[in-house]
Amino acid sequence: MHKPTAGWHADTIAIHGGDAPQDPHGALVAPLYQTSTFVFDSTHQGGQRFAGEEAGYIYSRLGNPTVNQLEQRIAELEGMQAGAAAATGMGAVAATMMAFLQQGDHVVASDAIYGCSFALFDHLFRRFGVDVSFVDMSDLEQTKAAFRDNTQLVFLETPANPHLKLVDIAAVSKLAHQHKARLVVDNTFMTPLLQRPGEFGADLVVHSATKYLNGHGDVVAGLVTGRSEDIELIKFTTLKDMGATMSPHDAWLILRGLKTLPVRMQRHCENALAVVAFLQEMQQAGMISRLYFPGVNQDEQSHESDLLQTQMKAAGAVIAFDMTGGFRAATRLLDQLSMIKLAVSLGDAESLIQHPASMTHSPLTPEARAAAGIGDGLVRLSVGLEHADDIITDLRQAFTSLKNSAENTAVNTD
Ligand SMILES: *Cc1c(COP(=O)(O)O)cnc(C)c1O
Repeated sequence: MHKPTAGWHADTIAIHGGDAPQDPHGALVAPLYQTSTFVFDSTHQGGQRFAGEEAGYIYSRLGNPTVNQLEQRIAELEGMQAGAAAATGMGAVAATMMAFLQQGDHVVASDAIYGCSFALFDHLFRRFGVDVSFVDMSDLEQTKAAFRDNTQLVFLETPANPHLKLVDIAAVSKLAHQHKARLVVDNTFMTPLLQRPGEFGADLVVHSATKYLNGHGDVVAGLVTGRSEDIELIKFTTLKDMGATMSPHDAWLILRGLKTLPVRMQRHCENALAVVAFLQEMQQAGMISRLYFPGVNQDEQSHESDLLQTQMKAAGAVIAFDMTGGFRAATRLLDQLSMIKLAVSLGDAESLIQHPASMTHSPLTPEARAAAGIGDGLVRLSVGLEHADDIITDLRQAFTSLKNSAENTAVNTD
């Protein structure tokens, strides 16, 4: 019994979306089907299920009622026909891309994407004979020039980690479709509440559900949505055969997390604007040399403010900034924080801060980091759901302490 969702707002779909498994006791919350396999009434029924002549479950890697409910809910939120759930965000990216690729194919990818997506394309794909061109997708001429006759897929992320640069999804999707290639968008940083890439022509939308969608820092998971036939292909070729499927328990937790996604995103975004205003003060005081957040550097990014208006509902809640004092200032600032947690990942209730040069991007040489624009003083902050004043108080005491120690050092060396 599928409920009609046409006309529902995202806030309602986040709570009621997806076909809930029937519960004989009328439980409010759909039961968790924590089972590996499903029992057939007869050999005839088993045969019919395998032949696809009777609807029903067989084995949880092929389908599970709890996982299916989540797949439908995320598809409804993204405004796409269908969804597939994966064990991790990378499982979703890998299963999506590999479902459409074979030896000799070509991929055009943004040069600003999640590190493991980059590694998957640049190392694994090349080993299997798939060539990849990485381009600056905010430059449409450069993007256009990268297409070849054998380009099958285009992959982008916007806002892009860690500089939060925006890409025009509609423009890139037009280029992709002119070349009969599918466009895949990683929408992790925005969620369907702030940006629905399908409305701008994306064929497939992938997520690390680990981040905002689950939102509580207790699950690693991935999701992909798209047209029914594309999702079927992903589910019943790569996802099923490579085995990166989601566990029912993780699906159940994400269904719970999704219920509060709309209210959480609203608070995340409000808090981020307050924190950006504080960081702008620190920029004026000379402690920050550059702030990265969609819409803040309007003079040089007028195209970005257009995209912020047309493509996104808000700028999100991940902020990056360069500390004027470089590596030493950035690490000292982070070590001084008390409430804000020093951790990678994003989108949790807790505010999380990290230093790419010593953490996520430490495997790169300083030269490679510089080429990628990842300075030694770069800091990335995922603004959480705490009271904005408390987040700012923690940041302020760390900046003050850093300033005092810098002044003391200056006095001492005089
Ligand atoms: C975290 C992340 C991923 C990978 O997701 P996992 O759940 O960690 O596998 C992919 N893309 C983006 C933008 C991410 O932030």
